[in-house]
Amino acid sequence: VTGATLAQDQAKVMRNISQLFGDRDPSAERVQDILERQFDLGLAWVHFPIGQGGLGVSPSLQSTVDEIVKSHGIPATAEVNPIGYGMAAPTLLRHGRPEQVRDFLRPLFSCAHIWCQLFSEPGAGSDLASLATKAEWVGEHWKINGQKVWTTRAHVARYGLLLARTAPEQPKRRGITCFILDMHAPGVEVRPLRQMTGDAEFNEVSLTDVTVPDTHRLGELNEGWRVANTTLMNERVAIGGSTPPRGSGSIGLLLRVWREASSTNPTQRPVVARLWVEAESLRLMNLRSSQLRDAGVPGPSGSIGKLVTAELSQAIYSVAGTLLGPDAILLPEGYEDKSRGCTEHSVQWWVLRARANSIAGGTTEIMRNIIAERILGLPRSQHDSPLVPWRDLPKS
Ligand SMILES: Cc1cc2nc3c(=O)[nH]c(=O)nc-3n(C[C@H](O)[C@H](O)[C@H](O)COP(=O)(O)OP(=O)(O)OC[C@H]3O[C@@H](n4cnc5c(N)ncnc54)[C@H](O)[C@@H]3O)c2cc1C
Repeated sequence: VTGATLAQDQAKVMRNISQLFGDRDPSAERVQDILERQFDLGLAWVHFPIGQGGLGVSPSLQSTVDEIVKSHGIPATAEVNPIGYGMAAPTLLRHGRPEQVRDFLRPLFSCAHIWCQLFSEPGAGSDLASLATKAEWVGEHWKINGQKVWTTRAHVARYGLLLARTAPEQPKRRGITCFILDMHAPGVEVRPLRQMTGDAEFNEVSLTDVTVPDTHRLGELNEGWRVANTTLMNERVAIGGSTPPRGSGSIGLLLRVWREASSTNPTQRPVVARLWVEAESLRLMNLRSSQLRDAGVPGPSGSIGKLVTAELSQAIYSVAGTLLGPDAILLPEGYEDKSRGCTEHSVQWWVLRARANSIAGGTTEIMRNIIAERILGLPRSQHDSPLVPWRDLPKS
């Protein structure tokens, strides 16, 4: 994008932002109505095509929109519906039929429909392609049976991106299909899993004879691995690709704790300074990546941001815990489940929650494998033979 084009695009975005609010008082309107208008003005994902929530401009312009919308007191869809916004939407855009894009994107953005991601299973996490949930064509529709786990927000979700095995006689990556699952359909049972924060943000989901129409198949039959890769690459960017204002987010929280505790713990000063520099380097790297990215698949480089974000957040909250001293071990907000509301969390909560960051969205070890094999071009690790049918592979 040349400087002149970027300036023109920026002007277009600013014009549409003024239309979004005009003389209206946002506190007198329903949030859903404002978000629907934001979608219609192409300010939902500015890099998406016109008519589909975007303006076809550089994704680097999204952060301006987000900051202005936030300053009007509107909760960000990326926070209320993170899986919908960051993962399901780009997957729908890339692999959905026109009617799926038309029917699902707008209510996803307005948060009328919260989305979840039904990928991981008890026997398939890092090795996702070995998943065993079965989808059978029974004449007029698909019948789904299986078990999913770690399904974030399944308890509030209306739809989920579901991976299921449709051809067990094929090698594991070739016999998977992706579906849009109605979480209210008979046979979908959601059971919450409590974490050490006290929250139950994720769940196990059992699927017993669940009916799914073929109109809810996302992508081609047995091409679900390609669809899943779009979701996973976008997931890494959603987790590790953000470009918040300088010094905000986790590093901002650490600085706040540091200012309150610096007189009692001055030795941590160089540690805090080093983490600030690392946070700023990550922010600048993500800013550059977002300028290079188009709508759709971000590519394997999203794994770098995901890896660094996970390690950096854990280092930041570990230092915050040290600075808090004995205060770090009790949650001021208590241990009841807060996952249904959108609560502001304490530093103590983040100290505990950050432990999950090197697992969720693909583990740190898997990110290193992707960077080694797909970015640095190192020899691939020994996977099981790509030609063995899934049904003949040993199961865990
Ligand atoms: C907070 C949170 C939210 C989540 N939300 C969702 C969700 O909404 N939807 C969903 O589908 N899933 C979700 N997950 C699941 C997550 O994607 C998996 O936990 C993750 O992929 C790891 O899988 P696993 O837990 O089965 O561990 P395993 O795959 O069993 O891994 C165990 C250990 O072995 C290591 N390992 C495995 N294979 C390799 C390898 N090839 N090379 C090197 N090391 C390896 C791993 O790094 C890890 O340390 C969530 C997880 C968390 C923690």
